[in-house]
Amino acid sequence: MCVVPRETGNSSLRSPDRPDHTKFQRDNSGTHKRATRNPANAGRQRRASAFQGFFPGGFDYPLRHDVLTNLGRKESPLDASHETAFRKPLIRWYEQHARDLPWRRTHDPYQIWISEIMLQQTTVTAVIPYFERFLARFPTVHDLAAADEAEVLKLWEGLGYYSRARNIHKAARVVVDRHDGVFPAELAKLQDLPGIGRYTAGAIASFAFDQRAPIVEANTLRLYCRLLGYDGDPRSTAGQQVLWTFAERVLPKSRPGRFNQALMELGATICTPREPACEQCPVSGFCGAFRDQTQASIPQLAKRAQITAITEASIAVRRNKAYLLRRRSHGERWAGLWDFVRFELPSSVEDLPAIAAEVQQQTGLRIDLGPQLAELKHGVTRYRITLKCFAAESVSGQLRPGEEWQWVKVADFHEFPLSVTGRKFAKLLAESLF
Ligand code: SF4
Repeated sequence: MCVVPRETGNSSLRSPDRPDHTKFQRDNSGTHKRATRNPANAGRQRRASAFQGFFPGGFDYPLRHDVLTNLGRKESPLDASHETAFRKPLIRWYEQHARDLPWRRTHDPYQIWISEIMLQQTTVTAVIPYFERFLARFPTVHDLAAADEAEVLKLWEGLGYYSRARNIHKAARVVVDRHDGVFPAELAKLQDLPGIGRYTAGAIASFAFDQRAPIVEANTLRLYCRLLGYDGDPRSTAGQQVLWTFAERVLPKSRPGRFNQALMELGATICTPREPACEQCPVSGFCGAFRDQTQASIPQLAKRAQITAITEASIAVRRNKAYLLRRRSHGERWAGLWDFVRFELPSSVEDLPAIAAEVQQQTGLRIDLGPQLAELKHGVTRYRITLKCFAAESVSGQLRPGEEWQWVKVADFHEFPLSVTGRKFAKLLAESLF
């Protein structure tokens, strides 16, 4: 039972959520902010009051009433006239306003899957060039399955959340080995693939195979909560039941994939976290939050993770005009990527002899440590990292066994997938005369 954080329609990269995979993206800055009431809302409130009598059949919340009071029943709780009245304007709006996105031009489950995984924690604008490069290099699931993980990570470099790339690679191999390279259409089989949860399985099944599969991700979670006027915790067991039930029951029999796309598009572009554009919303007549003017307080926000500040050192150890890189191992942050020697410092004050000793401890090399070259700031999940960058000459010693080491010339850095800060440091080295 999970909800996948996803872009909100804002055009720039949000600070990954998104640190923590259980959180939801709220806005462009990655911070959680409430919609604020403003004078324009007074007009909305007047409209909302006038609008209360508008609900068909005298329902205050035609959708909420049906879903919340009929949870657990097998038959559809929605009155047919409400369903039609809700779906028609939504689809009409979508057909007029849908963004033209590369993954919407296809029904290929492979391409849809890649796009859905990339869009987790990442904005549409940031994803498009990655998606196009990825598909150019790996046009089919067979190409991806046959690749080295390092190459997959290299193409993912900068998108963050590298477990997504590692899982994509593993899943491609499963599709080729167990399914003869044909993407399964069944939800259960899709969810068996590494990195594919309930939402992604529903997206692939509905977008690629037009199956009646429900979806709940960050944008639709917000949209459903507001439509239903649901002010409980949407991440709780009860909240999830409400939302997934609604997502399932609201789906039409005809072209459910297009309908899901329309819901997501509405959540991403109109029903935004802050200041939703209710005056442009095609389904405002069905919206409990609009009626009550509670858009600012619905959905209930997730608790913000405590941010921890840490200081790390990154040391570019040089020998014979090449620098020492280590492939980060399984279980470490950025597993599979390469990095300079790196470790956490106990305090923000650099203690050069202690740093040199730690390098010797980790690598087996005695070094002559130079002064600090740069200080980089970076956010990863719930950590705010200050990275102090040093260069050093290897003086003596043998590399410790048990790690993957490589001596790499500056001109060859581009062949290795590096973390964002690793890449920045590599560029600094390439530009410096050190
Ligand atoms: S009326 Fe406003 S709050 Fe309700 S669904 Fe539309 S955009 Fe969202």
